[in-house]
Amino acid sequence: MAAGRLVSRLAMVTGGGSGIGRAVCRRLASEGASVVVADVDEASARRTLQSLPSDLRGQAHMAAVADVASKESVENLLTSIQVRYFQPPSVCVNAAGITADDFLLDMEEDDFDRVVRVNLKGSFLVTQAVARALVACGATKGSIITVGSIVGKVGNMGQVNYAASKAGVEGLTRTAAKELSRFGIRCNCVLPGFISTPMTDKVPEKVIVKMKSLVPLGRMGEAAEVADACAFLASDDAGYVTGASLEVTGGLFMG
Ligand code: NAD
Repeated sequence: MAAGRLVSRLAMVTGGGSGIGRAVCRRLASEGASVVVADVDEASARRTLQSLPSDLRGQAHMAAVADVASKESVENLLTSIQVRYFQPPSVCVNAAGITADDFLLDMEEDDFDRVVRVNLKGSFLVTQAVARALVACGATKGSIITVGSIVGKVGNMGQVNYAASKAGVEGLTRTAAKELSRFGIRCNCVLPGFISTPMTDKVPEKVIVKMKSLVPLGRMGEAAEVADACAFLASDDAGYVTGASLEVTGGLFMG
C-alpha cells in the first residue's frame, strides 16, 4: 500500500456502512484522506466511522445519513459536508447498492424500480451533486468512482434488475468522464466479481461453490481488494485514467 497518497483529500463514500463501502472508507483513511461515511443506515455508518484510523491532518472524519435515491437527501449531504469542511469532496466513491433477485418471468415491477432507483439513479444523483459542487467552487481536480459489477457486462441469472442497473452505471460513468474532463474531474468504474460481503452472504452455499469453481484465482474476493482498486483510481497514480472500468474479479468472465 502507498500510504499517504490521499493526504489532504476529502473523500465521500456512499454505502460506507458495510462491505465494500466500509473497506473503501478504511483504505482511503489509511492513505490520509478525511472520509465522510454516508449510508442510509446510520448505525452502520457510525460503526465504520469508529473503525477509521485518525487522518493525518487532524481533521475528523464524519458519518452521515443519506439515501442516495433521494435528490433532497443527497443535496443535504453535500451541504452538511461543505458546512463542516468548507469544501466539497474531491474523491467520491459510489458504493451504495442493493439487490432484489428474481427471474425475469417472475420479477415484480417494484423490485425492478427499487434496484434501479438506488444503484443507477443514486449514482447519477451523487455524481451530479459532487460534480456540481466541485465545479461551483472552482476545484481543479476530482475523482468519482462508481462501483458497478461484472454482472453488468455478462448478465446473471435472477438479476435482470441488478444487471441492468450496473450496465447503466458504466454508461453514466463514461458520459460523465467525457463531460467532466475539462474540469479535471475523472470518472471511473470498478467492476467487482464475487466478493465476500453481507450482500453475498445471502447467496446459497451451492451457488458459492459453483462460482468459486469458475474463478481463475479460485476464491471469492475480499472487500479490501476492491478498496485497493478504488484507492488507486482516487489517487494521482491514476491521473491519466478516466472513463475506465477496472475489473476486480479474480479473472472471472475475463475476455
Ligand atoms: P452491502 O450490502 O454489504 O453494503 C451496501 C451498503 O449500501 C449498505 O451499508 C447499505 O445500507 C447501503 N445502502 C443501501 N441502499 C442505500 C441507499 N439508498 N442510500 C445509501 N446507502 C444505501 O453490499 P456490498 O457487497 O458491500 O456492495 C457494495 C457495492 O458493491 C454495491 O454497489 C454492490 O452492487 C457492488 N458489488 C458487490 C459485489 C459483491 O460480490 N459483494 C459484486 C459486485 C458489485
